[in-house]
Amino acid sequence: MYRNTWMEINLDAIADNVRRVRNICGKKIIAVLKADGYGCGDSQVLQAVLEAGAEMVAVSSLDEALMLRNEGYQGGILILGATDPADVPTLILNKVTAAAYSMEWVQRAVRNDCVGLKVHLKVDTGMNRIGFKDPGELHEAFDLLYENGCSIEGIFTHFHSADSDPAATQLQYERFAAAVGSLHYPFEWIHCDNSDATVSFKDPLSNACRLGVSMYGVSSYLKDLRYPISLHSQVVMVKTVPAGETIGYGATYKTSKDEIIATIPIGYADGFVRANQGRKVYVDGQYGEVTGRVCMDQIMVRLDHPVEVGTPVEIFGPHIHLEQMAEELHTIPYEIICLISGRVTRTYIWHGEDLEENQRLLKSEATVKQEEPNA
Ligand SMILES: *Cc1c(COP(=O)(O)O)cnc(C)c1O
Repeated sequence: MYRNTWMEINLDAIADNVRRVRNICGKKIIAVLKADGYGCGDSQVLQAVLEAGAEMVAVSSLDEALMLRNEGYQGGILILGATDPADVPTLILNKVTAAAYSMEWVQRAVRNDCVGLKVHLKVDTGMNRIGFKDPGELHEAFDLLYENGCSIEGIFTHFHSADSDPAATQLQYERFAAAVGSLHYPFEWIHCDNSDATVSFKDPLSNACRLGVSMYGVSSYLKDLRYPISLHSQVVMVKTVPAGETIGYGATYKTSKDEIIATIPIGYADGFVRANQGRKVYVDGQYGEVTGRVCMDQIMVRLDHPVEVGTPVEIFGPHIHLEQMAEELHTIPYEIICLISGRVTRTYIWHGEDLEENQRLLKSEATVKQEEPNA
């Protein structure tokens, strides 16, 4: 890592959060690792959730599932989103479980040799995204899959307002329970809860919960989870800008007196979106304002007192909470972490050790080796 802008992920804290939630719900855990583990690194988060006892993982697409298979993960993977029925042979070959979510999908899927295809039936109980809305179609689809030798392992639905509307969740649950009951089938996996429902909604039917954002400490109900992720950079230049000058593209900010301006190498290409203009970052005990427009790769921050080049900058973390940042940006924590781009180095703490230091060591060894011929 040469550019000092990095996201730190404490895998021990993720594992602790999974254990905590698991103890509360007492059901099997399906860890949701879609979108590269919410931007935190799917294979790294995978290690943590497996250690914490997750029984299965879920992703959004076949591509994401195959990435985990390529990492050597042999356990259960459920694809929550759409798949192309033409890819049934790939699903079977890689033992990846698909969501069966519409009559059209099922009819097209069974045109393949479907023996051994693992599916969970997706029931739409009010989200209106994917899933069977019509009980008759659900039955027809079940029969088709069954007759064609598919392994119907599970059935699930998804709540739209588990964070805010218990009555809506209850109504969705009742629709789900009616659908499951009417099939009279011993499903191995019955699941409806996302993170918030897992800790706020109790039901006698489901036997697994799908955990996503609560692994990262974000919950509408639990306020004592650990916060595993933080985003950092470093001051690369500090100067005093005289009164009356402007800062950045479009000259949107004008200094009103001599102002201490620090430049920090993070920008919208890192996922630090332009809406952050005017927000604060934490630098050496002070909260500095992002003055002027956010550039692609850099920002300028006004400070109260000067700092050295190299001073660490916290974008979010212990001093500026991810949830606070989301509120200020009128968005949700999920969006902020998923948007942190690939060029931001991820560093990991695992079993109390800093994996980044190991990576540094490896890199310096590689550098030494390259330089040998000239020595
Ligand atoms: C993303 C997702 C989850 C996880 O939701 P969280 O709120 O992050 O816990 C669960 N189920 C489905 C279908 C999802 O798409």
